[in-house]
Amino acid sequence: RIAYVNGHYGPLSEASVHIEDRGYQFSDGIYEVVALRNGRLSNEEGHLDRLERSLKELRIAMPMHRRALQHVMRELVRKNKATNALVYIQVTRGVARRDHPFPKDAVPSIVLTCRTLPKPSPKALAEGVAVISQPDIRWGRRDIKSISLLPNILAKQAAREAGAYEAWLVETDGTVTEGSSTNAWILTKDGVLVTRPRSTSILPGITRGQVLKLAQEAQIRLEERPFTLEEAKEAKEAFMSSASALVLPITKIDGQPVGEGIPGPLAKRLRELYETYLAS
Ligand code: PLP
Repeated sequence: RIAYVNGHYGPLSEASVHIEDRGYQFSDGIYEVVALRNGRLSNEEGHLDRLERSLKELRIAMPMHRRALQHVMRELVRKNKATNALVYIQVTRGVARRDHPFPKDAVPSIVLTCRTLPKPSPKALAEGVAVISQPDIRWGRRDIKSISLLPNILAKQAAREAGAYEAWLVETDGTVTEGSSTNAWILTKDGVLVTRPRSTSILPGITRGQVLKLAQEAQIRLEERPFTLEEAKEAKEAFMSSASALVLPITKIDGQPVGEGIPGPLAKRLRELYETYLAS
């Protein structure tokens, strides 16, 4: 396995950054995860747009031109002989003596890895997965893909300890924001596909954006609005979206079956539409 660190390719096992990197000390950085499927990077431009936006919001400079980064991604894939993988990109504010304000003249650090694509198991796809609810205790700028992920980690761990696949994060007003590493969707009792609109409360998932487009093109009834956990528990269907899971049906919320308790036709259809889009 080969990694890329600040201009150098080398064995992943030996790749390292300085202990005073601000990513390590302050989580002062951002990341992206791009899926490689059948040798092609999925939604590459969308991920790079979001990477640039996250950096801009934190006033970290792009460590290299976009074209150069695209070249590094391809080189890394080639060196790893990968065809189905997740390319991880992390940019931090750089190395400096530990002090909260932005350091003067710090050079952003950039790290890329290429690891196997963790695909949902055939069983998860056939039967759907369980989610549990957890309070959303994250900060107010969830639209930035920050490497500061403690609340997400704690929520995911709680899910795994409860035998569930994902945690749905719930605001104090009872609405679901998103999953710990996925966006959240329901098909309401009245047959409307609902997902939360873009705001600072959620990460604008690249998969979410693409699923919205596909649903619009397929003329599926659609509303971008917040929904409550209660509404989700009474929904006909529920599913999650992300670069690695694509569209994955949810058949249990907090131990309660969703709809018939089996993956619904809409989630299946959207997954197929997405797979067709990726292959096109
Ligand atoms: N929401 C959160 C909090 C995430 O961390 C992720 C992805 O890692 C997503 C949603 C899904 O985003 P994408 O579709 O771009 O993978």
